[in-house]
Amino acid sequence: MSKTRKPFAETTIAARAAIDQDPAFRAVTPPLYMSTNYAFDGYDSKGAYEYSRCGNPTRDALGHMLATLEGGAHGVITASGMAGIMLACQILKPGDLIIASHDCYGGTFRLLSTLAERGQFRVTFADLTDPGQHDSIFAEKCAMVFIETPSNPLLRITDIEAVAAQAKKHGALTVVDNTFLSPVLQKPLALGADIVLHSTTKYINGHGDVVGGAVISRTQEMHDNLAWWANCIGVTGGAFDSFLTMRGARTLTPRVLQQSHTAGILADFLSGHTAVENVYYPGLSTHPGHKLAAQQQKGFGGMLSFTLKGGTTALRQFIAAATGGSDAIFTLAESLGGYESLVTHPATMTHAAMTPDARANAGISDSLLRLSIGLEDADDLTTALDTALSAAQRAVA
Ligand code: PLP
Repeated sequence: MSKTRKPFAETTIAARAAIDQDPAFRAVTPPLYMSTNYAFDGYDSKGAYEYSRCGNPTRDALGHMLATLEGGAHGVITASGMAGIMLACQILKPGDLIIASHDCYGGTFRLLSTLAERGQFRVTFADLTDPGQHDSIFAEKCAMVFIETPSNPLLRITDIEAVAAQAKKHGALTVVDNTFLSPVLQKPLALGADIVLHSTTKYINGHGDVVGGAVISRTQEMHDNLAWWANCIGVTGGAFDSFLTMRGARTLTPRVLQQSHTAGILADFLSGHTAVENVYYPGLSTHPGHKLAAQQQKGFGGMLSFTLKGGTTALRQFIAAATGGSDAIFTLAESLGGYESLVTHPATMTHAAMTPDARANAGISDSLLRLSIGLEDADDLTTALDTALSAAQRAVA
């Protein structure tokens, strides 16, 4: 009787995915198949692939790699994270209710509310982080729950297992956007989710040079349905994008662990600084979701947010000092999860697509700044923050 081997760790999965499997020349690194179409063997006899919108070997290799990392059956690779969310929405029928995190990514909020306005389904944005509200949230029959945890940009934590159990009780599917942590730090399918999705633009690729998405299903049946829809509506990702994303994902574990470690150091530093009003980082014991994050996640992640004393005057000065000049090691830009550190002002950038009311409801104030911590040295980043905070303090003194 053969002994069952323990499952490979994420580092091993990412390093070994599709290695030495090239049937043509035994290329060690999986080749890039750019061809749009594939020859049929003869009359009514097609091979494994026919047309790249429906299927492509390079894209499939990435889908398989990410599904293995997430513990799912298979994954559909999409042209962007939003294309992935649009794909998940195809499961819903007119009249169906989707319940989504009230502080989800601004683009998700825009997509779900616009489709709901057009009658494609109904949507309720709710505070899923508060277990006390679950009974009232689930009072109405729903078809899907869409969780983003940690949420963007306040890093609120939702109990995936508890929400997925409630959803299951009501016959609803649970979808989790795992973009902020990646499978290295959180495995939503193991906690009861049916679908996990990513903007692979962020940590999975990690190199700031590909926009892409992934939708990974727990069951093959769900995957087959989503793969059918992805081909039908044409949201599948390109071969070269998949090739680059797979190359980026090879180093996912060391990058994410390092970024998470540095973010913890910077969150501690910001918490102790007199120019700072509030810090939002699940690794801080003062964070309301700290205990849950410690149970549910394998690390606290590379994202943090904070507000400054002194309102917009301090904020503008902080941004100018942190991101100006040729030796700045923070850049004022959207996106996240890359090797380079970024500062974002959610109210005017990532969350500008939300109405001011929706932002206020989600607690996203105009004085909030979000940091995506990259792979720069922690001491260098601390010094850069210290300098920018001093400049902010001088501006309001
Ligand atoms: N989900 C989250 C949590 C995001 O932050 C983003 C983009 O910032 C998206 C989805 C959308 O992904 P994309 O920009 O790749 O379409």
